[in-house]
Amino acid sequence: MTTTEVDVAVIGAGPTGLYAAYCAGFRGMTTAVIDSLNFVGGQVMSLYPEKPVYDVAGLFGIPGRDLVRGLTEQADHFAPHYLLGCQVESFTRHNDRIALATDGGSEVSARAVVLAVGIGSATPRRLPISAEWEGRGLSYTVDTPADFADQDVVIVGGGDSALDWALLLEPIARSVTLVHRRSTFRGHASSVRDVMASAVEVVTEAEIVAAYGDALMHTVQITDHARGTTFEVPATKVVAALGFISNLGPIKQWPVDLEGGRHLVVNSRMQTSVPGIYAAGDATEYPGKVRLMSVGFGEAATAVNNIAVMVDPAASLFPGHSTDSITLAG
Ligand SMILES: Cc1cc2nc3c(=O)[nH]c(=O)nc-3n(C[C@H](O)[C@H](O)[C@H](O)COP(=O)(O)OP(=O)(O)OC[C@H]3O[C@@H](n4cnc5c(N)ncnc54)[C@H](O)[C@@H]3O)c2cc1C
Repeated sequence: MTTTEVDVAVIGAGPTGLYAAYCAGFRGMTTAVIDSLNFVGGQVMSLYPEKPVYDVAGLFGIPGRDLVRGLTEQADHFAPHYLLGCQVESFTRHNDRIALATDGGSEVSARAVVLAVGIGSATPRRLPISAEWEGRGLSYTVDTPADFADQDVVIVGGGDSALDWALLLEPIARSVTLVHRRSTFRGHASSVRDVMASAVEVVTEAEIVAAYGDALMHTVQITDHARGTTFEVPATKVVAALGFISNLGPIKQWPVDLEGGRHLVVNSRMQTSVPGIYAAGDATEYPGKVRLMSVGFGEAATAVNNIAVMVDPAASLFPGHSTDSITLAG
């Protein structure tokens, strides 16, 4: 078993967790950022990477993907350790350290923990063909649009991600087919209009029932329930944009106070009921809580600066102004 020793372990690589990693680095603390997804960005990257975000201070209309890129660059200035594709399951206390165990068998030992776990550990909703075709043509997100250039792409889903990705890939893919099991789409009306007016082939009340290929996929079979037909289309890439299932999962069993079984009760320092374990972002609960990224960023700063004092009682709670800091130069 590998153990990563750091000052602060941040569970969750969503916007709050990434900003917490920056804040901890700014305080001179080493950090590990752990996420069950194998990419950073939390809900922003899994649910709306292409959507413009209008209410993050100073970044009016920034696409979700660009916001996450900026947060990652900011955190990476202090080189946090990333453990992606690892769900944190349990913790044990060893003197003044907390050891986190992940489902992958790795361990992170830290002086303090920030639970930036949002609405929980996210896993993609799978298709019946998933087990056989993951990594051989089937994916759950469009991380690198260039990978879809000149490909026959089939996107499955009826929400904003499916519509956005269809529109994003239509100009670069050889073909794009959008398959949705209902007759109407859940996404924005303007996106639905744009897709209908584009070269995307739309098949509603339908589902993928089989896929064929050798090492890689080349064809999928679709059943059209409305017309009672089954047909094949070329498909070198399938994107299952069916959303993610989020679950606080193992953390529900931790001895932390929860509100409504899903949110972590914190005080004004962002401490949970367990010493050394703090929380920030969508995961927290207190009177007047507002679930927005701007609020999560503030909570991350509050949690980490209080951790700095917990780790070193002689340290100041106020981190100093970044504009005065020589550590950011260059
Ligand atoms: C469609 C949509 C549009 C939105 N638009 C806006 C907007 O315009 N402005 C705005 O401010 N907010 C918006 N939000 C809300 C915003 O996305 C959330 O407030 C924000 O993502 C919360 O960030 P977070 O880092 O706290 O949590 P999350 O983004 O939920 O990230 C938490 C991460 O923790 C990981 N995790 C959880 N448990 C574990 C575990 N045990 N082990 C390992 N990893 C774990 C999860 O996999 C996840 O990646 C929107 C949300 C949605 C769904």
